[in-house]
Formats: sequence, structure tokens, C-alpha cells
Amino acid sequence: MEVETETEVEVEIDTEEIQVQLNRGKKRVRHEHKWKKNIRKKKRARGEEYVSTTGDIMHAKKFQPVECSCPLKCSSKIDCERQAVLNQKFYALGDWSLQNAFLYGQVKVSSIRHRYTKSAQSRRQQSKFYYLGNSNGEDVRVCKEFF
Ligand SMILES: [Zn+2]
Repeated sequence: MEVETETEVEVEIDTEEIQVQLNRGKKRVRHEHKWKKNIRKKKRARGEEYVSTTGDIMHAKKFQPVECSCPLKCSSKIDCERQAVLNQKFYALGDWSLQNAFLYGQVKVSSIRHRYTKSAQSRRQQSKFYYLGNSNGEDVRVCKEFF
């Protein structure tokens, strides 16, 4: 029987990388490109300026209040100030998975089945409802554009 020998992988380590590993107590060695990717991911998640894979500088996200003209009158429920607070909170999470979890929690999906069709599968519709917390801590429904 043949036993597969473990192949050794040469990894370039820079001091910054070691520092982070010490801080986090992780023993796993990460490749430099992966490390850079992580920085990029973090910066992007925080809405900070970062350099994209193509070398373009992506400028820091600036907060812009949303004005929509839908029947829900979103901007009257969530005013400019509240929008800024929510925006700040969102970027302060600084992590994709946390942000996604946050967004996921704010969207309510309901499926509507149309009774009069032969194939229910093809006609099933999913409606998404978007909610944002107002300054009283209540979740109010807003349109997709506003969300
Ligand atoms: Zn709206």
C-alpha cells in the first residue's frame, strides 16, 4: 500500500502577517494575496477607500440620503438623520457576513401561490418586504429602492 506523503508548501510570510496571527492566536499561515484580499474585503465592508483587484482606487462610500417617491413615503418615516445613523451602523459592522445577516433580518419574504394555474411551481411568486428601524426602534416598511 502506498502512503501519500504530505507535500510541503513554501509560504512567504511578512511581519504584518505574523503580527496578526499572534494577535488572533491562529496558527494557519496565509498567503499574501489572500491577506491583501482580506484587507480589501474589510475596507469595502466598512465603506472605506480601497484598491480593487484591477488596481482602481475605490473611493470611500459617502452617505447620501435616499429620496423616493413611492406610496410608502419612506423618507418621511425614516428621515435623513435616521438614514445616516443606520448607514453608519451598517458600515460599523465591517464584515460581510454580519452585514448580510443584518440585511437578511430586515427583509421579510412571503410566497404567494396562484391557485388557478396548473403548475403552481412556475407561478409561485415571492414577495419581499423591506423594513428599517426608525428612531423609536420600530421596524417600518420601506420600498426596495429606499432600502
Ligand atoms: Zn419608498
